[in-house]
Amino acid sequence: MFGRKSASKSDKKPQSEQKPSGLDHLTSFLKRDSVPEPIDEIPEIISENEILPDLPKSSNSKSVKLIQEVQKLDDKTIRPFLDYNEGMLFYPILSKVGEPQDNFAYLEGLVADGILEKKIYEKLIVCPIHPKTFSSSMRLYCPKCNSMNVEKLNLFEHKKCGYITESKNFEFSDEVKSQCPSCKKEIKNFEKEIRVPAMWYQCEDCHEKFDNATIKLHCRKHEHDFDTNSGQFITTYSYKLKNSEISINSDTAQIKEELVNLLNGFNFDAEVNCSVKGKTGNMHEIPIYAKSKTSDISILIFIKNQIGGIDESVMNSILVPKLDIEPKNTLLVTISDVNESIENLAHHYGIILISNPDFSKIISKVEEFVSDWYTRDGGSK
Ligand SMILES: [Zn+2]
Ligand SMILES: [Zn+2]
Ligand SMILES: [Zn+2]
Repeated sequence: MFGRKSASKSDKKPQSEQKPSGLDHLTSFLKRDSVPEPIDEIPEIISENEILPDLPKSSNSKSVKLIQEVQKLDDKTIRPFLDYNEGMLFYPILSKVGEPQDNFAYLEGLVADGILEKKIYEKLIVCPIHPKTFSSSMRLYCPKCNSMNVEKLNLFEHKKCGYITESKNFEFSDEVKSQCPSCKKEIKNFEKEIRVPAMWYQCEDCHEKFDNATIKLHCRKHEHDFDTNSGQFITTYSYKLKNSEISINSDTAQIKEELVNLLNGFNFDAEVNCSVKGKTGNMHEIPIYAKSKTSDISILIFIKNQIGGIDESVMNSILVPKLDIEPKNTLLVTISDVNESIENLAHHYGIILISNPDFSKIISKVEEFVSDWYTRDGGSK
């Protein structure tokens, strides 16, 4: 109990020193000194970034950070933490993205965005006078004298010999090996060898024995009892990451936008989630498809993030549209892990693989690639 309490105290402090990483993305755009000429769109993009505050981007990357944190959790679920002493409910994980731990609206926003799924975590009975304080606990009283000094008594039956006595006559502790007071046989497994035929209460003050103690709920913060039936119900919620596919989509919304801006800046017509017809006449869904405005070259960009890392099936799923569409370049960008054999496979297929856990680094690497390529042959055509 004490351990928990102190842990919650340290968790509760919002970590304000965390910087939003959205700024990095912005600077990567502004620091574009290797811009090839002539490109009309560049000034427009820069001015757009200057006028628009970085708010949507930083809130986006905040969500991405949160998603990454949730992926580390058991069952990918954000559970509320209830501080019974303060009577407060909060979500400690929010501090990892620089949000106040009681900013429920932020989590609700992610539910609305389709990133998180809201589930009932528990129904709490709260004090009818102080319903905002989540700190009621159950108390037992003697129905005769109202004393709290109530003990629980059990009858224990030794199944083997049928001896029945009050539980206090059996010794059950780790140090002493318990034995049946009647047949003296050692009891090794409580669950299997002992039956509990009866249970009742006894008041230690007035010695009254009774089957049902008076149950009251206690408002801990304001120190008063209330009747169980008068309590109000409060529903608390947990938030589960919807599924990996959705988390991937939400991850990629930001990066897609930035990549499209980037490609448009290099005189491409870039589109997201584009249906592209291949040589066979089949249609392919491409995350980013960009066609040069000045020539017939095209580029496909696939964005795949997988918790277990990029595997062969991902590469194969890219290869099909690549071979059918035959673009000039095919890029796979990912924040997931990529092992050497996948790198070799990508190389073998002629897929340019850009892997980095940091979005802003991915953007600058793509920029580097496109810029090199553009100066080499894209711009001259
Ligand atoms: Zn109260
Ligand atoms: Zn009593
Ligand atoms: Zn016995």
